[in-house]
Amino acid sequence: MSASLEGLVAVVTGGASGIGAAVTRRLRDGGARVAVFDLAPEHAEADLAVAVDIADDASVRRGIDAVIAEFGRLDIVVNNAGIGAQGAVTDNSDDEWHRVLDINVVGIARVSRAALPHLRLSPSAAIVNTSSIAATAGLQQRALYSASKGAVLALTRAMAADHLGEGVRVNAVSPGTADTPWIGRLLEKAEDPAAERAALEARQPHGRLVDPDEIAEAVAYLVSPASGSTTGISLAVDGGMHELRLRPR
Ligand code: NAD
Repeated sequence: MSASLEGLVAVVTGGASGIGAAVTRRLRDGGARVAVFDLAPEHAEADLAVAVDIADDASVRRGIDAVIAEFGRLDIVVNNAGIGAQGAVTDNSDDEWHRVLDINVVGIARVSRAALPHLRLSPSAAIVNTSSIAATAGLQQRALYSASKGAVLALTRAMAADHLGEGVRVNAVSPGTADTPWIGRLLEKAEDPAAERAALEARQPHGRLVDPDEIAEAVAYLVSPASGSTTGISLAVDGGMHELRLRPR
């Protein structure tokens, strides 16, 4: 796949861990200079790592200012940072709803709002938002998380329509269960983490977890000039879970 990002500058939120770290590596391999926005920037391997809380508008604005001060331009935003929530609709408090939506949905709006004045100046501007298989699969015990990721898809399409005329493409990736520290933390809570991992793998259509590098490759395509005619889509990286009507194994 041709995905030359030479000369371009990217922001990856949540780029210090998991999928965001894989995206950061992949974009840098493609020639981009990458700034990571993260609560824990000390763990990031990037050209610039900034302590940004995407739930805080002033913090986001300082982060974008730091990118412009360092690189003088911004071409790509990967809105990857997000948090999980477990439970049915009966289980989460208003505070939990506000917190998760504020990070997973409003966080994307905040970062994009601050970035767009700079993206509009780029000849190759692209935003990728991170949704999830949870947006469409009807997963049990994930009501709040699923609602937040469904909103990410709706937001992606609306942003794609609003900014098409400005030369800014907006797409989403929808990963299935991916092998990241996030999933590691969930498995650690199980009585038998190894057995839980095996059961989780068996529930995936292709019998394994998604490799974060596979998601990074999809993101690299969506932000590269190679996908210049693609906007408003969600690219599923989920072993076929969304598109295929598979019988339970
Ligand atoms: P992770 O927990 O390994 O990494 C998330 C990173 O985001 C961390 O470095 C964390 O510090 C950062 N972060 C969290 N809140 C932040 C905030 N308010 N401001 C700035 N940074 C913040 O998670 P991951 O598994 O790599 O997931 C990344 C994204 O992919 C999330 O949006 C998640 O919903 C989505 N996703 C993950 C999976 C999966 O199975 N892992 C599946 C589908 C979608």
